[in-house]
Amino acid sequence: MEKIVALCKRRGFIFPSSEIYGGVGSTYDYGHYGVLLKSNVKNEWWRAMLQERDDIVAIDSAILQHPRVWEASGHLAGFTDPLVDCKTCGQRFRADHLADLPCGRKPSKHPGETDECDLTEARDFNLMFETTIGPVKESGATAYLRPETAQGIFINFKNVLQFSRKQPPFESAQVSKSFRNEITPGNFIFRTREFEQMEMEFFVPPAEAQKWFEHWLAERERWYVELGIRPEMLRLRAHDADELSHYSSGTSDVEYLFPIGWSELEGIANRGNFDLTQHAQFSGQKLEYFDQASGERYVPHVIEPAAGADRATLAFLVDAYDEEVVEREGTGSGEMRTVLRLHPRLAPVKAAILPLVNKDGQPELAREVHEALRASVQSEYDDGGAIGKRYRRHDEIGTPFCLTIDHQSTEDRTVTLRDRDSLEQERLPIEGLAEEIVRRVHAPWKTPKQL
Ligand code: ATP
Repeated sequence: MEKIVALCKRRGFIFPSSEIYGGVGSTYDYGHYGVLLKSNVKNEWWRAMLQERDDIVAIDSAILQHPRVWEASGHLAGFTDPLVDCKTCGQRFRADHLADLPCGRKPSKHPGETDECDLTEARDFNLMFETTIGPVKESGATAYLRPETAQGIFINFKNVLQFSRKQPPFESAQVSKSFRNEITPGNFIFRTREFEQMEMEFFVPPAEAQKWFEHWLAERERWYVELGIRPEMLRLRAHDADELSHYSSGTSDVEYLFPIGWSELEGIANRGNFDLTQHAQFSGQKLEYFDQASGERYVPHVIEPAAGADRATLAFLVDAYDEEVVEREGTGSGEMRTVLRLHPRLAPVKAAILPLVNKDGQPELAREVHEALRASVQSEYDDGGAIGKRYRRHDEIGTPFCLTIDHQSTEDRTVTLRDRDSLEQERLPIEGLAEEIVRRVHAPWKTPKQL
């Protein structure tokens, strides 16, 4: 994890927020390549949900919602984590995570394991951030920064049903920010207080709930594998009965083998009709579906695949990070290279255009190639430093194709394409190059990284 954090900082993917003021702890800012990478993750999710299916519609609900939403959903009363304080070291811990956390004074031990540890009884701590709507705090209305995007989908059930002209099974999907005042955030962007979720609520006739639950388990695992995650690093884990949320009749997590061990990447829950029933009761509105063909009226059940965009980005980074010894260009001696073996569809930059020297018409031709490519893919013109150094830089940000413009290019209008993974080089004509890069970016891809 430390190597990934260092690479993310060095190459401008992700860095601690408010650093010049000393940071605020477990909040991060995304730099240029981080923005491109996370956008690609979210776009791939949208592609799988919207472009490749007919039964899902998009929604983007407000972060600030009516406070009653959180009463109905159960968050106000029950979105809590058990918290313990240590009177000796002054730190706070999640009572249910003690076995995974380091003691405040002796990090090789867990809280409560040393004689000096003095833990309080566990008490419930609500994870929602509170704020005030209106100019005067005292008389304004209390509101909450949403802790999940799901409720914004449930409260729009009627709107979506009307405008989408769909009938169950259909789904609303949303990608947006959520906020949780986590007691123990950490492990880089794995657990932060502000994060982005990619959630969908699949509304189904009650009798079909189990079938669709199983469908989404398989489908969501497939999505990660198609985008290059090694299947051995993924597993589905069903929640035990005592782990299940109050609304859930079945939940399975897609877990990834992070450097911190197997951990949740995405949760897939069979939420029954809990949410729509609750909101119907609290709002006084009918939230049900009338099937004109059968004359049946029912409250749809909900299958919810809920993923985190930041956590998924971290998993893709971890799975892509690789180190290998390669021959240093032209010397025959070996050197270590760090490479991000990202699926080309996820890579922040698809092609780097590199003039070998900054003269003899090479920069001009390289610019021409860059202009031709950038209409179709994210390409980058890079003329800074020795060619070997530029290759290393693009290896570290995961650029799958480096296109070098050399003396021969100005004579026969060809470029050298260097493949990030195999390091093979081939000559390709400039004519039709953009189409060829697009074709390669979208071709099926499997990581050469060993377990
Ligand atoms: P955890 O058990 O890790 O706290 P959760 O079960 O509470 O997660 P859900 O409410 O199911 O999480 O949220 C769906 C997804 O949102 C998670 O699988 C994860 O990818 C992401 N997520 C949840 N909390 C955070 C967080 N604090 N930071 C980053 N991502 C998060």
